[in-house]
Order: sequence, then C-alpha cells, then structure tokens
Amino acid sequence: MHVVTFDLYVDGAWTASASTERVEVLNPATEERIGDVPAGSPADVDVAVSAARRALEGWAATDPGERAKIVFRLADELERRQDELTDIVVAEVGTPRRTARWAQVGLGIVDLREAAAAAADFPWEEPLRNSLIVREPVGVVGAITPWNYPLHQITAKIGAAFAAGCTVVVKASEVAPLTAQALAGAIDAIGLPPGVFNLVNGYGPIVGEALAVHPDVDMVSFTGSNAVGKRILELAAGTVKRVSLELGGKSAAVLLDDLSDEEFAKAVPHTVRACYMNGGQSCNAQTRMLVPRDRLGAAEELAKAAAEAYVPGDPTADTTKLGPMVTGAQRDKILNYVRTGLEEGAKLVTGSSEAPAGPGFFVAPTVLSDVAPTATVAQEEIFGPVLSIIPFDGEEEALAIANGTIYGIAGAVWSADPARARRVARRMRATQIEVNGGRFNGAAPFGGFKQSGHGREGGAFGLEEFVEIKSLQL
Ligand code: NAD
Repeated sequence: MHVVTFDLYVDGAWTASASTERVEVLNPATEERIGDVPAGSPADVDVAVSAARRALEGWAATDPGERAKIVFRLADELERRQDELTDIVVAEVGTPRRTARWAQVGLGIVDLREAAAAAADFPWEEPLRNSLIVREPVGVVGAITPWNYPLHQITAKIGAAFAAGCTVVVKASEVAPLTAQALAGAIDAIGLPPGVFNLVNGYGPIVGEALAVHPDVDMVSFTGSNAVGKRILELAAGTVKRVSLELGGKSAAVLLDDLSDEEFAKAVPHTVRACYMNGGQSCNAQTRMLVPRDRLGAAEELAKAAAEAYVPGDPTADTTKLGPMVTGAQRDKILNYVRTGLEEGAKLVTGSSEAPAGPGFFVAPTVLSDVAPTATVAQEEIFGPVLSIIPFDGEEEALAIANGTIYGIAGAVWSADPARARRVARRMRATQIEVNGGRFNGAAPFGGFKQSGHGREGGAFGLEEFVEIKSLQL
C-alpha cells in the first residue's frame, strides 16, 4: 500500500504547502515507507487560520440544526469509507484490523453522531430572570492530535467544534497523518463550507507551536503527552487562549476482596484486554491491576493465560490481537520500562524486555507482578502492552494506590456488591470508571482529573468546551 497524499487542505481545497520538506510515514509492521505529507510551515498555518477566520462568521450564524445535519452527514460519509479508513489506520498505526474497524474508525463515527445529537438538545439560548443566556462558538480552534487513535482524536474535537459553530485548523500527528488526509477527503466530499475545516500537517514544534501562539486562534484543543501539553499551556498564555488538554494516564483496575472465584476469573482477563487494547497505546489503558494480596498468585496465573493469547502478529490479519508498536522509538521506550520494572524488583510473569525478531516494531505481551505502587512502571505511562499487578491490603489501601499517581483519566472497580463498587468508583480521582465491566458510552464525558488534563470530550460535555457563554440583560 502506498498512499499518495496531497498537501494542505485549506479553504475547501487541496493546496500546496509553502514548505518543500516532507514527513515520511512508515508501516510499523513492515518498516516500509507508505506515504508522505508536507512538513508544514508557519506560513501554512497563517493561510489556514485566515481561511478559518473568514469562514467563522457565516458558520457561527448557521442554524445549529443545520450544523448538526452536516456533522451527521460526515458520520455517514465515514461509515461509507469505513474499510478504506480502517486500512489506512492499520497501515500507519499497526492496530489489528478488527480492533481498528470498531475502536478506531467506528469510534470516530460515534464521536460525530454524539456531537450532532447533543447539539439538537443543547441550550443555545435560555432565559434567566431578566437575562437571556446565549451560547456562542468560541471561534477559531487549533486542534493538535496524537497518533494512537488518529481518526477519533480528530473527530472528538471537530464534531463538537463544528456543532458549536467553530471553525478549525487541525494539525495531526506527524507519526500517523495519513488518516487525517483521508478524513479531509471525506470532508471535501460532503460539501462543508470552505474554511470551516483546514488541515496543516507537519511537526509539532513548527506547526503545533505556530497554532498555539497564533493571535487569531481563539482556542487550542490538544490531545497528547503531558510534556507537550505543558508547553502548549505556556505558549497559549501569551494570548490568553482557552486551552483544553487530554493528556496521559496510568489507570487502575481495582479487584475488591469480595469477588467469587468466577467473578475474579472474569475481571482479570477483562483488565488484560483493557490494558492491551491497541497494543497498550491508549491513554485510558488499565495498566495497573490492583488485587487483594492473598489472590496475587491466582491473578498472575489468570493474567499470564490472558496475556499470552495476545501473540504479536500481522495487523492486517483478522485473527491478530496485538500488532506492532507505532515506531521503533516507542518500542525501545517500552522495553526500557520493562527492564526498569525488573531492576526495581517486579516479577516477570510473562513477556520480555527484548524485542522479538523483526521486521516490525513488536513487543511481547508482558505482565509484571508484585509491583510496588511507587515503582517507575506503576507511576509512569508506558504506552505499550505491559500490565503491572499490584497487591493491596484492604479497600482503603487499594484506593490510595489507585489515586496515587499524577494521572486521573480512567479506572475500573470490580466487586460482588454493586453498591460497594459504586462507592469505591466515586472515590476514584479519574473521569471514566468502569463498574463491574460496564460498557463504554460515547455520550459520557471523557478527559482528565489532575495532570491528565482539563476539559472534557464526548456528547454535550464536548460541545460545552467549544462555546462561550454570555448574557443579554433585557
Ligand atoms: P505528543 O505529545 O508527542 O504529540 C501530540 C501532538 O502534539 C502531535 O501532533 C505533535 O506533533 C504535537 N506536538 C509535539 N510537540 C509540540 C509542540 N512543541 N507544540 C505543539 N504541538 C506539538 O503525543 P503522542 O506521542 O502523539 O501521543 C501519545 C500521548 O498522547 C500519550 O501520552 C497519551 O496518553 C496521550 N493521549 C491522551 C489522550 C486523552 O484523551 N487524554 C488520548 C490519546 C493519547
């Protein structure tokens, strides 16, 4: 597969970049070059931001119902292109094909439909005593996104931004930009007014920073690492921009002491799945499994069996559950973490700190046990298929460990007593908590407590991020 790409998508048309430099995109399973995109320049950002600014007034004045219809239309268009988009995600991220179809592309479609549906019921205007409360679009949005869910991370932002009446300049990850190019193709096909969506690919320190400092960008919506999130906050301070940040995580699944053997045997593989989804390259991955100390042995046995079913392999095959890591650098970082974990005293239940023979940036599914809550692997985001099992003594200690990192994006609680599970879930300092394996809900808020960021995505909660609230005194 070789994806031939155009340059920038600006003002409703494909446009040449001012830069002649290109970013090469590799297939992480084969290490072959599969395409390239421009390494955009600050001049490209200026052109795109001007287009977004010109389009803003007309788009903001469009009836919210009309805007929602267009967002629904985009969702339908992505559904029509689901196979093509899936192939691109598999090729540039290495997500196994079956997972990519629903969790990558399917989720992107859900994002758009939830945003459009929320716009229908949104209180755009409401009376308050002698005032009229009015919700208006925040303006021109710079959206900067990572590589791990290259469609969903963009659709989570643009669905809500479009529905709110904002115009957008997207800068996708330079590691996986081809999906964003394909998304621009779908947007082009549905006839969104020119300038409402613009795409400038390129490197973060060039294109991303140009967006974050741009005086004509009203808001930056960022998903990515904590280091870059902090840099964006600094840069955006110069123009007092609104910033929403979706950053890293170190989520805990707490398996309480009242589970029957059967329930325990269900919770452990569920947690392994929630850790290894997309090769562990998910911000909400449940990377810490907290178990009662007297069940550590049973947890290890169950986790080993579940993990070893994740045989690394060709992501285009429908039977593959674990693809490659996205880059060689990412693989090496993960293996280093496994090494550090072992050096700091963890027990290796399964997996390895060595890479399997290439080609491809593969990592063995790994489970570490008897991990200290303060160990590096229990504190830092690894972003790979590495589960840390941590024993606890009692509910209070479990909660202290679960809440004992700088992150707070997601989590899980398992208990035989649903009321107890809810009570513990309420005390977890994180946004999306699965209770006894509760299903994902695309309309529910997603985002971070603590250093996992600020701002929420999903349904009406995502829409709120992109509106200014004002009042007319009547
Ligand atoms: P990253 O921070 O390296 O890059 C994210 C984006 O920021 C990319 O587009 C990159 O080009 C850009 N960027 C880099 N330097 C920049 C700069 N100086 N100024 C402006 N933009 C810059 O993250 P990544 O490696 O692509 O993604 C992995 C990280 O994303 C993980 O930490 C993960 O937890 C996080 N993530 C968070 C969520 C969430 O919803 N909270 C979701 C997915 C991923």
